[in-house]
Amino acid sequence: MSREWARVDPAHKAVIEPFLQEVPVKVAGIARALGIEVKAATLKPRISGQIGPSDSSPSGYRHEAKVRQRFTIAHEIAHYLLHRDQIGDGIEDTILYRSTLSDRREAEANRLAADLIMPEKSIVADLRALGTHITPEVATVLAEKYDVSEAAMKIRLGLG
Ligand SMILES: [Zn+2]
Repeated sequence: MSREWARVDPAHKAVIEPFLQEVPVKVAGIARALGIEVKAATLKPRISGQIGPSDSSPSGYRHEAKVRQRFTIAHEIAHYLLHRDQIGDGIEDTILYRSTLSDRREAEANRLAADLIMPEKSIVADLRALGTHITPEVATVLAEKYDVSEAAMKIRLGLG
């Protein structure tokens, strides 16, 4: 798992870990278990997701392809886990996952989001079971299994 995972509060980890045992990971379930309300929303053009200033204020994601919605939800959860003291009045993520937070914070959120929807243990076990080198075809198979985009899985497998 990423160095960002190491920074997650142990109490939050305990809530999240059971969800990482089963793929595709139920990201909306993780959000609910953390007390974050996420819902599909009509957002401003070029905005993919938003998170409110507190866990009681609504967070949303755009009506987009399901795999992208799943990543967006994971990304907003990551902001909550890592940056909730910096969210201020709430943040909006563009379709490129940029916000008023620094690019470094955005990269952190993307790495933790990848941990949440493509848990390392599970990926390692699947690669072992497939018994093959990491190829684009493997990325295609695993992207389907994890309900993520092929692009996200390729990055996860180091093919990006
Ligand atoms: Zn973001």
